[in-house]
Amino acid sequence: MKKKKLKTILIDLDGVLNNYNGKFDENFIPEIREGAEKFIKELYEHYIIKIFTTRNKILTVKWLMKYHLDKYIKDVTSIKEPAWLHIDDRCINFCGNYNEVTEKVANFSTWYN
Ligand SMILES: [Mg+2]
Repeated sequence: MKKKKLKTILIDLDGVLNNYNGKFDENFIPEIREGAEKFIKELYEHYIIKIFTTRNKILTVKWLMKYHLDKYIKDVTSIKEPAWLHIDDRCINFCGNYNEVTEKVANFSTWYN
């Protein structure tokens, strides 16, 4: 019997699964990032995966289908649903220390910029 997955991971699209460079075009989602399929496939073995994006849902689903990732994804949402983890290129992990976080905010940059 296959073990039931209990934990959900919300994964951002732009800058995580694709080659987003910071120039947003609402009608075009950049091509898949190298290694993204393997990454998703491995996480899928243990977690429920949802795509967390503000992009148009239909466009996003088409993109997932284009790269054969749809079979690993339970849903596409722009709502912060209950999840065990978020994977995002634009976030700061809250460490419990506001001063530290304030400094991280001031010095933040994405990995691609
Ligand atoms: Mg992003």
